[in-house]
Amino acid sequence: MMASLLPWQQSQWQLLQESRQQGRLPHALLLTGPQGLGKGQFATLFAQSLLCQSNNADATPCGLCRYCQLYQAGSHPDVSLVSPLEGKKAIAVDQIRALGQFMALKSQYAGHKLVVINPAEAMNINSSNSLLKTLEEPSAEAVLLLVTHQPAQLPATIRSRCQEVRFGIAETAENRAWLSQQLPAGADIDLLLSLAGGAPFRAIQLADEGLLEQRQTLFNGLDQLAGLKLDPVSLASQLNKANPGWALLCLYSWTADMIRLKAAEQTAAQLGNPDLGERLLKLLNQVSLTNLFKLQDRIRQAQQEFERNLNPALIMESVLMEWQNTFRIRKRKIT
Ligand SMILES: [Zn+2]
Repeated sequence: MMASLLPWQQSQWQLLQESRQQGRLPHALLLTGPQGLGKGQFATLFAQSLLCQSNNADATPCGLCRYCQLYQAGSHPDVSLVSPLEGKKAIAVDQIRALGQFMALKSQYAGHKLVVINPAEAMNINSSNSLLKTLEEPSAEAVLLLVTHQPAQLPATIRSRCQEVRFGIAETAENRAWLSQQLPAGADIDLLLSLAGGAPFRAIQLADEGLLEQRQTLFNGLDQLAGLKLDPVSLASQLNKANPGWALLCLYSWTADMIRLKAAEQTAAQLGNPDLGERLLKLLNQVSLTNLFKLQDRIRQAQQEFERNLNPALIMESVLMEWQNTFRIRKRKIT
């Protein structure tokens, strides 16, 4: 099925299509913004729109013409989609060199030659240097789309040769309606969006991977931990049965809410976890702001350790012990 334009991408789409109609489409575009907004989907749809032969009013590709069909089959000769090869994290210099050769050829259908590099930050130094040559001498037909949520990781020499197109999060009724169609009936959209930092695709991923169940296990476990009915080792082992990364994400969000309440005395309605308001307020007097910041730092560190594939059981246990220390919960043998 053909990808469609997402409701929160309309203004970027119009901007680029206007540039195109006025004949001032830049040779290189850098698509930036948080993860989970569908920037990659936008890039491939835009690439397809530059090849499509139909004249849809909003310039979205028809999906039916010869060029759309070739594109959708992955066999359009004027298109190159570059991502890390299977099992690799980086985009290898050979891939970018091959791209240079591809760009040097004239387009087969006398139209644009299109390149999408996603995620662009996966290019290593050699790859970036090799791409720079292509960017310095763009052919008239070339359009390069670089997609990244970490533009700072790209060399300034590359960024300065691209026009940036920013994607942001806007919570509108239309976006929520779109998201509700992607999620199972009854899913807590507010909570998922909040935990996903407002990014719809991330919210879908979190729902698919059982984040809310994991969250429930965590918060029930914390209650038991506080009441000394459970110890950190047992809770860590429960949490590690599912994705421990989600437990860390939930704990981070929990701690951020405690800090919000402690620091600004905000109302529960403005929390990242609005359903936890009363439970958090009850704990507020047992903890200092300094200790909450310390706990937050420890969770952030644990998230990095987790991404580096260190022992998840040990990481989780140490974070839960830190949580106990934060609340000065007396450690004694559990009976
Ligand atoms: Zn078409």
